[in-house]
Amino acid sequence: MIKSTKKPNLRIIPLGGLGEVGRNMMLLEYEGKILIIDMGLGFPEEDMLGIDCIIPNVSYLKNKTKNILGALITHGHYDHIGAIPYLIEKIGNPPIFTSALTRGIILKRQEEFPNLPRLDITIVKNNDRIKIGPFNIEFFSQNHSIPGNLGLFIKTPVGNVLITSDFKFDQTPVNDLPTDFKKLEMLGKRDILLLISDSTNAEEPGHSLSEKTIEENLDEIFKETKGRIIASTFASLLNRIQQIIALSEKYGRRVCIEGRSMKTNVEIARKLGYLKIKNGTLIKAKQITNYPNSEITVICTGAQGEGRAVLMRIANNEHKFIHFKRGDTIIFSSSAIPGNERTVQVLKDEFYRQGARVFHYKMMDIHAGGHAHQEELKKMINIMKPKFFLPAYGQFSMLVIHAEIAQKMGVPEKNIILAENGKIINLNQKEIFIEKKAVPSNLVMVDGLGIGDVGEVVLRDRQNLAQDGMFVIVAVIDRISGKVKGSPDIISRGFVYLRESKELLKETRKKVIGIVDKAAGSGGAVNWSYVKNEIRNKIGQFLFSKTQRRPMILPVVIEV
Ligand SMILES: [Zn+2]
Repeated sequence: MIKSTKKPNLRIIPLGGLGEVGRNMMLLEYEGKILIIDMGLGFPEEDMLGIDCIIPNVSYLKNKTKNILGALITHGHYDHIGAIPYLIEKIGNPPIFTSALTRGIILKRQEEFPNLPRLDITIVKNNDRIKIGPFNIEFFSQNHSIPGNLGLFIKTPVGNVLITSDFKFDQTPVNDLPTDFKKLEMLGKRDILLLISDSTNAEEPGHSLSEKTIEENLDEIFKETKGRIIASTFASLLNRIQQIIALSEKYGRRVCIEGRSMKTNVEIARKLGYLKIKNGTLIKAKQITNYPNSEITVICTGAQGEGRAVLMRIANNEHKFIHFKRGDTIIFSSSAIPGNERTVQVLKDEFYRQGARVFHYKMMDIHAGGHAHQEELKKMINIMKPKFFLPAYGQFSMLVIHAEIAQKMGVPEKNIILAENGKIINLNQKEIFIEKKAVPSNLVMVDGLGIGDVGEVVLRDRQNLAQDGMFVIVAVIDRISGKVKGSPDIISRGFVYLRESKELLKETRKKVIGIVDKAAGSGGAVNWSYVKNEIRNKIGQFLFSKTQRRPMILPVVIEV
């Protein structure tokens, strides 16, 4: 037999983040050796009632833990780190490599899961190189909305792969170094076989705003504001938090940080030197009445209108120490995540109603996203000049638009791969293609402490309950005669107001008795699950005909 000298392909397997926003996780596999890139969580869709988050499906990694060489984590956003506590034990607790800030955020979160094994995290920084099995990795800084964000240059046996991480180009960032184009160009000269790039804002034309522009606009607001400033943004948007703190210091304001996750992030970032805050700037919420209004800034969570977050509690006068005052200035320094527009609107209206001045990103540029727009995406492709291109991170429409951009920039159509989660992408010097077989990639839902135990059925039940309520029928049946004893009990929630539906209930009881008598009344062995099904179906039809609603029907049959 002639032994083939052909090298095996590099396999790239996205487990999350392609065709969706969030839940980023990708595998690089060469000769069975596996490198993990990110382990993020995703947020549930509106119809996933009671679900806390969704995580990548790692069943492909089952029984492969000894082949997992390590995990590279690009940055500290939850859609890149959030699944670590849920997955790390399942995948054999491999070594993790990430920046100091990301490590701090990961370890802080890990405190909420005290039963998990200790994580093995090595800190890496810009220009660091490490070798893990067949992979030689070089880290490089990328601008984003959080410091400590690392892009990955990975030399593999089949060629060089460059993963951008979430990124934008910013020549005048705040609290971060400007984009190092020299470094990027140096990487681009190394024959990039495959570029995997951030598609989140591929549908946005032009160039993302520089943080400097944001700062200038915020400065305008600070300059003319006499009352208190309450600025709300994402808990992880550390660079924006830094800007607001710096402006507060410039205009002689103390700063109160409110919101548990934001406080934690600020604490970690400050300890590690990623945030610069003068001594004496930060005050506690209960101290804010010690200072005149003109000397107070509150930075808080809740700009998405989240029900229990600080901003909502201030609006509803439910915060222990911070009570809204006429003349307060409210800044929403973040865009509304799709799906949250309505709650944000309600919150804004509430503040206007109470006499606030309100600024939000639609009125002036006081928010820049952390993701490259089209001109930056073009530039990245131009610098890297990859042979092959894989648009990653984003809804499918974003991937398609990003693919079109790459084509315009000269990457041949056949060299661009549009993939979704679970697909196995094969790469060698000559070609890139998707294998016929895919790995499991369906959603794994986390509900409280349960992981993956809420399936389609549970979810469907929750949807039904939320829509039309439930209807419990308790029938006591005489074992000997097979007849219903007395009148069946009916308990219902969220369906109809029972007291005003006496007639409906009377008829329902009659029907139940009829169904049971027919099914069981003939004597002999009775198939109770058949009886229950009959009740469920017939009463379901009956209630629908009367009310046009479909409550969940739970028949309970008790034999005596
Ligand atoms: Zn990010």
